[in-house]
Amino acid sequence: PASPNRPLYEFHTQTAELYHHLLVNTAAGQGALKYLLDRGMTRELIDQFQLGFAPAVADQEVLVNFAKEQGLEYDTLRSTGLFRLDQDGQLHDRFVDRVMYPIKNERGQVIAFSGRLLQAKGNEQAPKYLNSPETPIFNKRFVLFNLDEAKKAARQTGQLTLMEGFMDVISAYGAGLKTGIASMGTSFTSEQIQIIQRLTSQLVICYDGDSAGQNAIRRALQLLRSTAPDLSLQVVQMPAGLDPDEYVQANGGAAFVRYYEQHQVDPVAFELAYLRQGLNLNNQSELLSYLEAALQVIAQLQQPMAQGVYLNQLASEFNLDLGTLQAQLQQIKPVVT
Ligand code: ATP
Ligand code: MN
Ligand code: MN
Ligand code: MN
Repeated sequence: PASPNRPLYEFHTQTAELYHHLLVNTAAGQGALKYLLDRGMTRELIDQFQLGFAPAVADQEVLVNFAKEQGLEYDTLRSTGLFRLDQDGQLHDRFVDRVMYPIKNERGQVIAFSGRLLQAKGNEQAPKYLNSPETPIFNKRFVLFNLDEAKKAARQTGQLTLMEGFMDVISAYGAGLKTGIASMGTSFTSEQIQIIQRLTSQLVICYDGDSAGQNAIRRALQLLRSTAPDLSLQVVQMPAGLDPDEYVQANGGAAFVRYYEQHQVDPVAFELAYLRQGLNLNNQSELLSYLEAALQVIAQLQQPMAQGVYLNQLASEFNLDLGTLQAQLQQIKPVVT
């Protein structure tokens, strides 16, 4: 039985091909192609992810024209989300002068796009990334970029890798780390967690190495703990100021994969490292307030053995009496969540 959404899938497939063609084969795409190559994308990656370009052609709208050739119905076109409506209800290309990233569902069908400005152009109103709106085939709370490929890789490696951006996932892929996925723009959702949980037992969070990234890691950890308590979690803290894509550009793919493999820590170790940032632990009062905060974190751990491991670490690192730390820990009442 033909699904009513079939024309939407078909139109997305064709649109991805069109944008890709415009990027790699036409004069209109030259600037965008140079942009991508300059930021380290290879032709192989551009083809693999079917990156494209939505050009700004004077007096012409490439997707409107293409749609006319296809003879598709107005209502169908409107529901693709790839057009915006003017006051008269006329359709216009939604994506203009943007590098185009096709977004696929778990089965590998193109269901939406994200378009990136080549540069900000002094136009602060225009968002850097513009996503398709919600449509009958695109419910972004349920979508993870690159999941179709990443889930195959996860069968080999046993883990998925949550990243912030499309470029991070693509650069990591080029470096040989194919388990990367990214949530669609701002928020990471419990729906996405349910999907991840179905596909793997281990998730590695590898967000940007800036304070926004760190805060996003903490939010993600919280949501993961409440939504999927059985999922095993690791965190890779990127060096300050670098996201995974920038790390690949700066140091090469092999160095990124090495960094990724050697810097996985569990959430408690991440949290402790987070708490001690910027503190001078040679200063008594700063050390004391760190220890207090650290014990709060350790007190939340379910397993006594895990608690013991971290208590031991604290004791040996700061040359403290283990018994005293244990006594202090006992005084912290577990927070009921
Ligand atoms: P790039 O390397 O291309 O500049 P990025 O992935 O490093 O992009 P970030 O600023 O780190 O961009 O944001 C992470 C992700 O958040 C992006 O990949 C995109 O999905 C989303 N995002 C960023 N800015 C916007 C925006 N203005 N509107 C919608 N989504 C955005
Ligand atoms: Mn970021
Ligand atoms: Mn980034
Ligand atoms: Mn980036």
